[in-house]
Amino acid sequence: MNATNKAWEVLKSGGNALDAVEQGVRVEEADETNETVGKGGRPDRDGNVTLDACIMDKDGNCGSVVCMENIVHPISVARKVMEETPHIILAGKGAEKFAYEQGFKKEDLLTESTKKQYEEWLKKSEYETTINIENHDTIGMLAIDEKGDMAGACTTSGMAYKVAGRVGDSPIIGAGLFIDNEVGGATATGVGEEVIRTVGSFLIVELMRQGKSPQEACEEGVKRIMKKNEGRKDFQIGFLAINKNGETGGYCVHPGFTYREYSENGHENRKVTSFYE
Ligand code: ASP
Repeated sequence: MNATNKAWEVLKSGGNALDAVEQGVRVEEADETNETVGKGGRPDRDGNVTLDACIMDKDGNCGSVVCMENIVHPISVARKVMEETPHIILAGKGAEKFAYEQGFKKEDLLTESTKKQYEEWLKKSEYETTINIENHDTIGMLAIDEKGDMAGACTTSGMAYKVAGRVGDSPIIGAGLFIDNEVGGATATGVGEEVIRTVGSFLIVELMRQGKSPQEACEEGVKRIMKKNEGRKDFQIGFLAINKNGETGGYCVHPGFTYREYSENGHENRKVTSFYE
């Protein structure tokens, strides 16, 4: 809610969709109580917080950072990659070095709370990426500005206690996020490996291009994943999408995924239907 409030404020004061999504998700990156994004995100199995983020604009320009440490706002570094380099993805130490060159400050991303949880986790060191659907999340945001132009942003600390170096779907253009200004945009949360296998967000935008509503496209996106995982119930995926007309939709594997929508009609929390009841 705080993130969408911020994004709306940016749009209302004349900012474009790109500014709105960047400023919006930065709110969660800075919020230490959100333990799946930015500062306060849970660490990998070696105790290091590594962040993934990407951003995409109306012209199909995009930027991404993967597995980056010590920077609170990976989304803004991703935007700098997009705007200041001829590249799209910077990884790990290279991304961090680039961030310092751009003026970002070094900061310890581990908090008292995530440190304690990690120390507790270390006692058993059980790696349950697919079983525990509570130890990961992402913020993905899609916006349309007054000109009708779209942009999207996606940022996460990924799966808690992941193997060092693991990168999920969130910073992968087409998987965790995709924008096509002619059609619409989509973004994903959940077990990134499954989203990457179907290039989920790109798939959803293409389905909208073929005439599906955002809701229908998200449902088809989840169904494609479930087809590859028949009978499997131990993981969560959530998609959300918006088309050029501002219609939105969402769908997920298990109940519990909601998304916030902010429009001229105000702020709404949209409950999303799911593959399993
Ligand atoms: N998609 C993220 C990842 O796999 C995690 C999540 O959204 O729950 O890193």
